[in-house]
Amino acid sequence: MKIHEYQGKEILRQFGVPTPRGTACFSVDEAVAAARQLGGSVWVVKAQIHAGGRGKSGGVKVAKSLDEVRSAAQQILGMQLVTHQTGKEGQKVRRLLIEEGAQISKEFYLGMVIDRSKQRVALMASSEGGMDIEEVAAHTPEKIHKLWVDPAAGLTGAEADEIARKIGLPAAAFDQARAVLQGLYRAFVEKDAMLAEINPLVLTGDGRVIALDAKFNFDSNALYRHPEVVAYRDLDEEDPAEIEASKFDLSYISLDGDIGCLVNGAGLAMATMDIIKLYGGNPANFLDVGGGASKEKVTEAFKLMLKNPKLKAILVNIFGGIMKCDVIAEGVVAAAREVHLSVPLVVRLEGTNVELGKKILAESGLPIISGSDMADAAQKVVAAAKDM
Ligand code: GDP
Ligand code: MN
Repeated sequence: MKIHEYQGKEILRQFGVPTPRGTACFSVDEAVAAARQLGGSVWVVKAQIHAGGRGKSGGVKVAKSLDEVRSAAQQILGMQLVTHQTGKEGQKVRRLLIEEGAQISKEFYLGMVIDRSKQRVALMASSEGGMDIEEVAAHTPEKIHKLWVDPAAGLTGAEADEIARKIGLPAAAFDQARAVLQGLYRAFVEKDAMLAEINPLVLTGDGRVIALDAKFNFDSNALYRHPEVVAYRDLDEEDPAEIEASKFDLSYISLDGDIGCLVNGAGLAMATMDIIKLYGGNPANFLDVGGGASKEKVTEAFKLMLKNPKLKAILVNIFGGIMKCDVIAEGVVAAAREVHLSVPLVVRLEGTNVELGKKILAESGLPIISGSDMADAAQKVVAAAKDM
């Protein structure tokens, strides 16, 4: 689960990481009032969306008067912000962060992710902050310094100092850098994050080390123990189909292809997407209805897939293990009737009561295309989608 920058900064402050003072706002008037309240003579008006790259796309503006704060807020609020992380459609800006301006002397990069192969939190730091870290990784990988933190010891002071030295922070700033690095590490572990990033971490003209940006992504499987993180959830930033799916306990991820997939089991769902790709098609979604899918669940799954205007065909791929094929066949038939299916439907069933399941499909009178195995079904659905 992702959160906004201003929420990330609230977490950072709780762990002793300095950030500029700032206020989240939902209207232009609020933004101006917030700037007045903050005082000073330079402010930064920042679009709050769950994607980075805002700076390059006009979502971050420095203002030198309250009038400039007003015009920047007017420009940014409500805009459809397109960055390299939002996709072409962009994301509508509904919230702003108004901050006191920082006088930047140098920008650094600081990030943490879980490295599953090493079973540790990997810390990455670079002198090349502010820009895309992917670019730095591609062209000057030697400028990214990595460290795998021992979970028993945590991030030690000596390790933090070593990182600070490697990225070129002055020795006078090591104490502050240590607080930032150790604070971010503690926040990462205590909040069950999967990714935490401060880009840029800056050294100000007067020698302070502060986090100018904050990005967090939390492990959804651990959210049950962090109600305070769940409270940060902003449904406006999430895919409506995925929100709808979660209400019915369906694991659904929107993709950009045109073949809907309805599968039981995450592994089979992955294999189904692979085989569609193998035969030249593109999945419109990942969808795992789970082991005990009821008729209602299957119907909801069909409705979800059909809401996608790009959808051209559906592949149902079910292995009847715990679930019996006749039950799923009845569910598919009922769902297809209820939603007035408008695209070709290919069904491949295997497992318990498969003959009965196939009979139910055949006798339904619905134009269901039967697939004898996964390869056959995938080829048929790819062909059906091409014909639409
Ligand atoms: P992102 O582009 O979405 O990652 O947004 P950031 O929060 O990283 O902001 C982008 C850039 O705006 C930063 O790299 C800074 O160069 C600039 N910026 C952000 N805050 C300030 C500030 O307080 N003062 C100045 N001068 N520049 C800022
Ligand atoms: Mn940034």
